[in-house]
Amino acid sequence: MSADWVCGSCWHKHSDGWNDCPRCGKFEPRPIILTIHGNPVTQKNSRQLVRIPGKHGERLMSVAPPEVKQWHRAALLQLKAQAAQLGASGLGDEKHLLGTTVIAYLGKGQHLDADNIAAAPLDALQKAGIILNDYWCCPLHIYRERDPVRPRVDIGLAPYREGKE
Ligand SMILES: [Zn+2]
Repeated sequence: MSADWVCGSCWHKHSDGWNDCPRCGKFEPRPIILTIHGNPVTQKNSRQLVRIPGKHGERLMSVAPPEVKQWHRAALLQLKAQAAQLGASGLGDEKHLLGTTVIAYLGKGQHLDADNIAAAPLDALQKAGIILNDYWCCPLHIYRERDPVRPRVDIGLAPYREGKE
């Protein structure tokens, strides 16, 4: 697990973001911000039923629509590039919770349920190797905004210690 955390109080860079800042003694780690450009998608409620012909007749299969697959491919490329720049990998475990903020900026005419917004971005973070498991993304804050010019998902990750946020 690694990342370069920056103290929000004195801007000191230190690797163990879950500990107090070694310079000023405060616990105010700045979040790492990752951005996935493109119209946000949801995993749930967006699957489509397709007919698959087989030996014994047709069967129905539920598949993710092309735009969701495309979003995941694009998200992976973007996140990997940003992770390399930030030096962030393998974050989060039971002793290192990640306070997580997901802000989805919907594109023109988009309507997504807020309760479905976090799943795809958290899945992408995990596939990109930035987090070990989205189970440790806790507490999780979800916001739905709109930006027709630059639709995207911004994700903030910050070391979280229970009782201190
Ligand atoms: Zn500090």
